[in-house]
Amino acid sequence: LVLLRVLPLISQLNALRSAFASTAASVNIVSEFLSLENKPLMGNGKLIYTQLEEGVSFEGLSFSYPGQEKLVLEDISLYLPRGQTLALVGGSGAGKSTLADLLPRFYDPIAGRITIDGTDLREFDIFSFRKRMGIVSQDTFLFNESVRYNIAYGRPEATEEEIITAAKQANAYEFISKLPEGFDTLIGDRGVMLSGGQRQRLAIARALVQNPEILILDEATSALDTVSERLVQTALDELSRDRTTLIIAHRLSTVQKAHQIAVLDRGSVVEVGTHEELLQKAGYYSNLYSMQFTENPEKNSARIKILGA
Ligand code: ADP
Ligand code: MG
Repeated sequence: LVLLRVLPLISQLNALRSAFASTAASVNIVSEFLSLENKPLMGNGKLIYTQLEEGVSFEGLSFSYPGQEKLVLEDISLYLPRGQTLALVGGSGAGKSTLADLLPRFYDPIAGRITIDGTDLREFDIFSFRKRMGIVSQDTFLFNESVRYNIAYGRPEATEEEIITAAKQANAYEFISKLPEGFDTLIGDRGVMLSGGQRQRLAIARALVQNPEILILDEATSALDTVSERLVQTALDELSRDRTTLIIAHRLSTVQKAHQIAVLDRGSVVEVGTHEELLQKAGYYSNLYSMQFTENPEKNSARIKILGA
């Protein structure tokens, strides 16, 4: 289901990328495809996005997927001030990823709007703000190219020093150094295979090099062992520090540190506050929280079982 959720256009894009990813020329093909096809229906604005001064505002957003009646998001209002972190939590299917997808305009809302410093996102040239947004999600695409190429992908002019610094901050430097040819090692099906945690740390290094102003993180930890999870976590902390961040959070540690937590339930925001505030409310969040707490020992024993098997 998680895979089916992926936008049709993005799957097409990935298929295209896989088909062409082996040559440098393919990158141009991909970006052309992006600019032609991966555009919402409402068209493109003229304003050139320069930088965020105050914050991102979600105002009365409602959304349903094209051709479907069911409202997946209903009257969502949230405010994310510049430099802060807003965490989205809630059960599976609550609408967290959908909400995050509206920010880069993979889709447009059917009612309400998203504004940047008070200006409707749709008035901006889409590529001028997408360039300043970084997205790290479960299914980050890696090219059949060198480690260096993959890290520098968002900013090919990055210097060697910037690439190394990003790799270190992303907790990726150590494993890269141990690869047969270090940063020159080819990865993917034509080179070395990386673990899920290693792929994620490369994605984080890539985002660090890109140095986006607005960061969208869809955390994925279920596939990671405890050590990888910790390495990914500290890398994500580094990436999101002082950066305007919308994070779909599964880990309690991330949630606790967020400036605001919004709890989504069946497409609506049911609670907003800090970790402490929401615990005091003894509502949805504190329920989620205690559920995670009681789930943890189980999760750990499952891990031990796998490790011992
Ligand atoms: P979450 O990230 O909180 O698990 P999602 O945003 O992925 O929730 O999904 C919210 C709802 O939208 C779910 O009911 C899901 O089935 C539906 N949905 C998600 N992606 C699509 C899609 N591409 N087309 C139609 N419905 C979708
Ligand atoms: Mg999701």
